[in-house]
Amino acid sequence: MVLPTVALVGRPNVGKSTLFNRIAEERISIVEDTPGVTRDRIYTHAQWLGKEFSLIDTGGITVSDLSLNQEIKTQAEIAINEADIVVLVVDARVGVTNEDEAVARILYQAQKPVVLAANKADNLAQRQDIYDFYALGLGEPYPVSGVHGTGMGDLLDQIIKNFPDENLVVDDDSIKFSFIGRPNVGKSSLVNAILGENRVIVSNQEGTTRDSIDTKFIDRDSGQLYTMIDTAGIRKRGKVYENTEKYAVMRALRAIDRSDVVVVVLDGAQGIREQDKRVAGYAHEAGRGVIIAVNKWDAVSNKDQKTMQEFTEYIRQEFRYLSYAPIIFISALKHQRLDQIVELVTAINENQQRRIQSSLLNELLLKATAIAPAPIVKNRRLKVYYLTQVQVQPPTFVVFVNDPELFHFSYERFITNQLREVFDFTGTPIKLIPRLRK
Ligand code: GDP
Ligand code: GDP
Repeated sequence: MVLPTVALVGRPNVGKSTLFNRIAEERISIVEDTPGVTRDRIYTHAQWLGKEFSLIDTGGITVSDLSLNQEIKTQAEIAINEADIVVLVVDARVGVTNEDEAVARILYQAQKPVVLAANKADNLAQRQDIYDFYALGLGEPYPVSGVHGTGMGDLLDQIIKNFPDENLVVDDDSIKFSFIGRPNVGKSSLVNAILGENRVIVSNQEGTTRDSIDTKFIDRDSGQLYTMIDTAGIRKRGKVYENTEKYAVMRALRAIDRSDVVVVVLDGAQGIREQDKRVAGYAHEAGRGVIIAVNKWDAVSNKDQKTMQEFTEYIRQEFRYLSYAPIIFISALKHQRLDQIVELVTAINENQQRRIQSSLLNELLLKATAIAPAPIVKNRRLKVYYLTQVQVQPPTFVVFVNDPELFHFSYERFITNQLREVFDFTGTPIKLIPRLRK
């Protein structure tokens, strides 16, 4: 589940974000479809020849009051820290600049694989005129055009050639979870409170990606091993860029990628912000288990019986696609209701792994179609033949139909709700894929 990471670096305007979008193939996601959510992404998933990877555009992480040179150096530093492979992007039309040389020197020392992309090589003459870039000492320059999409295949081939050997990635069978939320919502306090309970710390090591501090612990009662991915700890290391919002979001998204279950932490005394929605939406899309934890509930004044109910409705309203996520009201400070966290993480992890026999699924389908016959769309009736589970984590089902075009969202939601009613899928998204029965 740990994906190789590729980072783009280079001075401004060489075309990093154009290449980023080109490599990401502009996947449209529900998060970015949400009005008000910023569109300039700097972190995404991509794939080439079936190999999936994470992609970072370090150019999107800018720190105010830095000189151009310092800024590029900072971005190179982030790339080296976060990525397995660094792609240095240069401008084929401009040739080698001082800044290119400065970045190349930093990358050179880092001993990470570097692939050199000479962008804006839009035509044959420009593609052939890139040999100056050998002077950077980073090997062969790959001519590409982010705008036209040419040369991308060769560049991507070279990138994936440098991926770490999958067999070398060590993983254990711990349940991995993380606390995600804006600064000051209480993530560190939660980490400490949880470790203070009946738990034995096994190790306390820097996460493999260095963007988080992992703590492994064993629950004394159950003997279960957990990995807690703490994204808050890193901020305390004191690098300037760690305080930028873009970096914080990127770090959160990376932690989500490594988690089985994500605890989205909100501050009960404050409302929900765009950033909360963005990371929660990403967790949903990534198919992770989700818990919504309203922390600092002790600090909410004038509570009565209705306050929790009202806050719950507010959350349901703001996070519509997370209707399956349990909501808990906690206090890290007063240690209130914290037991629920690890309990829920464990239960949701189990729900994510749940496999349902096809015979049970088709029993369910029979009953469901009896309650609500499949709809007629444009004079044609949808026919639903067969339901089968093809994957876990998240549970993914294929539904065989007479025409996938007729399988509309409302009927999808209906079947999903039926699945949730009969089987325990609390806390996990469910995917339903309509497929034509041959
Ligand atoms: P960044 O600052 O490195 O992220 O660069 P951008 O991706 O924002 O691109 C800077 C400018 O270069 C934009 O106007 C792009 O349209 C343009 N650009 C990007 N790639 C190419 C390319 O392959 N060919 C040409 N001619 N222009 C490009
Ligand atoms: P982080 O930035 O998300 O890691 O947040 P911290 O754990 O550093 O907490 C930020 C501040 O909120 C600190 O002053 C904490 O003492 C305070 N805090 C954390 N949890 C609670 C809580 O449950 N109730 C109250 N009243 N304060 C809390």
